[in-house]
Amino acid sequence: MKYLGLGPQKPKVGVFDFTCCEGCELQLANKETTLVDFLSLMEIVNFREISSDKGDDYEIALIEGSISRADEIERLKKIRERAKVLVAIGTCACFGGINSLKNRYPIDEVNREVYGEMPKETLEVKPVKEYVQVDLAIPGCPINKAEVERIIVDVVTKAEIKFPKYPVCVECKQHINTCLFDLGQFCLGPVTQAGCDAVCTSGKMGCLGCRGPFEAPNFEAFFDIAKEKGFSKDYIKERLSFFNAFSEVKDV
Ligand code: SF4
Ligand code: SF4
Ligand code: SF4
Repeated sequence: MKYLGLGPQKPKVGVFDFTCCEGCELQLANKETTLVDFLSLMEIVNFREISSDKGDDYEIALIEGSISRADEIERLKKIRERAKVLVAIGTCACFGGINSLKNRYPIDEVNREVYGEMPKETLEVKPVKEYVQVDLAIPGCPINKAEVERIIVDVVTKAEIKFPKYPVCVECKQHINTCLFDLGQFCLGPVTQAGCDAVCTSGKMGCLGCRGPFEAPNFEAFFDIAKEKGFSKDYIKERLSFFNAFSEVKDV
């Protein structure tokens, strides 16, 4: 029996980083209490942050980071050819992420500002799915380790993979937080997919939508409420574009 193209044996896993801060990889290597159990489910053959092995016989490829150079496109395509299952991990890989802020300006201007007289070859930032087929996408900046563990266990044990079908507000309310809109702050929680345990809003910081939209967001109602609370159309648009996770929203 096969599931997502994988046989019943322990799958071989490779973890690869592209344009990113490597914070998602760090999350994978973190949380010592579950790390041994997690790693016992798979055979890591390539994971630069934790191992010197450089195997290319992986079945599952976990891709971290967005794509912003021509050589990254080639490397990504080679990984896709080798892997049976390709998983985009983190907001950079899923949506472009914080790196997408670069796309707000002309590429030559960005290059000059950052590298001065020594420009580098750099492209508009794009998510992984723009170049190769992505079988699973696990968003988050950074990813939620508990969620990734659950999903990888589901892949390995051939269980159904489920994501929350509700927004961050649900998790926020489970923590009995005062709504940040009532404290004069802006928050994308009502339209953003849960799964992070409302980590930002529980720390009194408005959600920036790093996990992207949930299954059935009511953007219209959300925009009406945000405007009623005094936030301008331009401000809402700017917040929505922070991680490039709401590119489907064409107008506010
Ligand atoms: S999603 Fe966030 S934490 Fe993960 S690599 Fe990108 S910037 Fe870093
Ligand atoms: S603070 Fe944000 S996530 Fe929490 S209830 Fe208010 S809008 Fe929802
Ligand atoms: S609260 Fe929003 S910005 Fe913060 S981790 Fe959750 S989805 Fe991302």
